[in-house]
Amino acid sequence: MAIAPDQTELLERQASSTAAVLDNDEIEAADDSLWQKDCASAMSDAEELSAQQKRLAAGPNVPVILWLVLLHAGALAAPFFFSWEALWVCLGLYWLTGSVGVCMGYHRLLTHGSFKVHKPTRWLLAFIGGLSGEGCALDWVANHRKHHAHSDHEGDPHSPREGGLWAHMGWLAWSISGKEHAGHINRWAPDLAKDRVMRWVGHMFLPSHIVCGLALLAIGQWMGGPSMAASMLTWGLFIRLIIVLHVTWFVNSWSHMWGYRTYETTDESRNNWLVGLLAFGEGWHNNHHAYPRMAAQGHKWWEIDMTYWVILAMKWTGLAWDVVDYKKISDRNR
Ligand SMILES: [Zn+2]
Ligand SMILES: [Zn+2]
Repeated sequence: MAIAPDQTELLERQASSTAAVLDNDEIEAADDSLWQKDCASAMSDAEELSAQQKRLAAGPNVPVILWLVLLHAGALAAPFFFSWEALWVCLGLYWLTGSVGVCMGYHRLLTHGSFKVHKPTRWLLAFIGGLSGEGCALDWVANHRKHHAHSDHEGDPHSPREGGLWAHMGWLAWSISGKEHAGHINRWAPDLAKDRVMRWVGHMFLPSHIVCGLALLAIGQWMGGPSMAASMLTWGLFIRLIIVLHVTWFVNSWSHMWGYRTYETTDESRNNWLVGLLAFGEGWHNNHHAYPRMAAQGHKWWEIDMTYWVILAMKWTGLAWDVVDYKKISDRNR
């Protein structure tokens, strides 16, 4: 195990982690000093104590519960409508919405600023991320930045210390109030909240899934009639969303519970090879918690990171630049 060396490097790493959002052209104009300060003081912020109790006290989040029940119920019908064509569509959309949308768009670009892109690309990636069924970019990014600031300590929205099932999906079912939710977004994702187009993309969350479902029905009907239409809908939408959701949630649960630790971090993050493969590189989670801003999450040659391959392809084609490939701020100019 590589022990993270001295206090200086730890502090530098913390600064690097915070800079994940701050050192970005898109964000310079945003009033992000508040969340920068929060990251530094997160551990000692009394307001953040007992986050789980606060969520439970706020009561169940009915829309989220209905959404997740609907998706799981729809997936139960899928075995009755299997077709190879729909399976390929399912796998293609799993990669597009999971790896490109969530892992690359929501996580490495919007949350951590691991690379830069033009604004239309940024909005497009946020839209594709929304098609993963995991909510709008503002919520996702705010929750994940808070997770990094409090990882496996009080205030972490989804730590297995409060139960594996809670970390996996339970936390999603318990709401925070409207006023508190607005404060949460402004505190952790002020850069996204100030982007009018980004907010509009967020409002397209539910309509985009309805359009996606109708498109899959139409394509299936055109290809092979009603049974193929049902196959495309159940596999291309319901099964695919269930796969993407649970694989993403495995990062929050399994990758904080089981696996090896390459770096000594202050949390319980692990490198889990199964999640690494299923989640297109995001399962090398101990690497990521040690160096949150690095675009590559696989740090050994055999830690396959498919999402990073897409980032490199975008860099080579000029769609992305300033890809963060250094571990420490001091490495930047070497
Ligand atoms: Zn984590
Ligand atoms: Zn992260």
